[in-house]
Amino acid sequence: MEIAELTAEQFEELRQLLLAERDRLEAHLRLSEEGSKPVQLGTPIGRLSRMDAIQQQEMTRAGRSTLELKRRQVEASLDGHTKGVYGQCRSCEEPIGYPRLRARPEAPFCLSCQDRRER
Ligand SMILES: [Zn+2]
Repeated sequence: MEIAELTAEQFEELRQLLLAERDRLEAHLRLSEEGSKPVQLGTPIGRLSRMDAIQQQEMTRAGRSTLELKRRQVEASLDGHTKGVYGQCRSCEEPIGYPRLRARPEAPFCLSCQDRRER
């Protein structure tokens, strides 16, 4: 099935989505910074035991790396906009297609390449 190239309006819409997503991710990363500081021995941490605090910290770290990965994809997509290659699959260079990009504007691959990578 032939996938259509993006129109100028779709390009702009997706760019706005990416900019909003970047702001959202940066706000999240700023908020989670506090939670990823090392646990201080002897610091009163309320009802949480030290083990709980450490476990929570691990979870915050995992959350951060997901956020950071996504932010890198968003940055790469915005970079693609600047270079005029946005909307192209980074693997096969076919258009990714508007419906997929509308759902995931930072998607670097078309659906079939993404499928192949996940297998
Ligand atoms: Zn592809």
